[in-house]
Amino acid sequence: MPIPGHVDPVPVPRAITPREDGRVDLVGLSREQIRAELATAGLDEKQAKLRAKQLFHWLYHRGETDFEKMTDLAKPMRGWLAERFIVGRPDVVEAQISSDGTRKWLLRSDDGQDYEMVFIPDADRGTLCVSSQVGCTLNCRFCHTGTMRLVRNLTPGEIVGQVMLARDALGEWPKGSMAGFGDADEAEDDDAPQYTTDGRLLTNIVMMGMGEPLYNFENVRDALKVVMDGDGLALSKRRITLSTSGVVPMMARAGQEIGVNLAVSLHAVNKEVRDEIVPLNRKFGLEELLQACADYPGANNARRITFEYVMLKDKNDSDEDARELVRLMRHYRLPAKINLIPFNPWPGAPYECSTPERIKRFSNIVFEAGISAPVRTPRGRDIMAACGQLKSASEKKSRAELDRLAAEKQAALG
Ligand code: SF4
Repeated sequence: MPIPGHVDPVPVPRAITPREDGRVDLVGLSREQIRAELATAGLDEKQAKLRAKQLFHWLYHRGETDFEKMTDLAKPMRGWLAERFIVGRPDVVEAQISSDGTRKWLLRSDDGQDYEMVFIPDADRGTLCVSSQVGCTLNCRFCHTGTMRLVRNLTPGEIVGQVMLARDALGEWPKGSMAGFGDADEAEDDDAPQYTTDGRLLTNIVMMGMGEPLYNFENVRDALKVVMDGDGLALSKRRITLSTSGVVPMMARAGQEIGVNLAVSLHAVNKEVRDEIVPLNRKFGLEELLQACADYPGANNARRITFEYVMLKDKNDSDEDARELVRLMRHYRLPAKINLIPFNPWPGAPYECSTPERIKRFSNIVFEAGISAPVRTPRGRDIMAACGQLKSASEKKSRAELDRLAAEKQAALG
């Protein structure tokens, strides 16, 4: 039976346009891919392997973008690299900081595609919400990104580039001596304080920005492998969460090949309501989805699956819904945490947020059944931090205004 709406992915997303200057951007490449690029450019195998190791460290551990500053490479080598490669970052179209500390960026790729990332600081952690696609095919009705069409998948470089840019903006690349961290330029940094990895602001990543990560599986997997590599950005898989709307056939692969924490956009407990809110449910139903969660590799009580549940007035927020949610979690024996999200409306949104009393009552019912059900505090409402809102707002601005803002923000970030 055909499924109404765009619930299927665009199977062959448009390829990325190559850079006009012909240079290759190294960001997003693994050590092995950097080695292969160097070999293709003319280095012999031994050189390519050695230089790839050094470049990997400079790129992802030090955050260096200028080959000239890579001091353990011979000067002629630095020039040779700069002629053929770049270490890029996404362009910043807009950067906003909320009164609660939430930061949001509208980014632009080399081929002019806009996508968003959000940084949410908390007392004990800082979470970067990363996008996986420009737009989305899935049309979840509560989601503003769902009102946009899919333009293309983001490349591993554009996904890793978000993490790199956030580290730039937060000033989180190591500055001190790297002695003991495998760096060869100790002499230059002799007087600098000893580098430590403690006290970072960016501690966690959620693949929860624009797009459905499991419809861009290979790129997301390759990007996260770079992000998790201990010689580079070195974020532990326990600090990374991949959020899916329920692309059931890819969930086991995600567990096996990426191994990060799983979050599921559940949002409803029966077919009728979930079909409406998350149209992908018409393709992969609730039972199938919850069974895939129960089978997710590595999920246990110490590593629970997060179920996102947006609170929509008179739609999915009754006592009966809360009880059914508990029943489903028990039935499938899911090591679950339920995240209750007050709906963040946008102009023209088809729903309203549940009342605070209703949300509290819903949360209590789930809590009393022994399942954690915290209510997520809305963040960054003054800067439209809900997914997709900044991109839409910016599209209403004139090109000249955007260019001016981009220049200003870039200067502010620099
Ligand atoms: S919630 Fe996620 S999957 Fe659904 S439309 Fe929005 S971006 Fe796409």
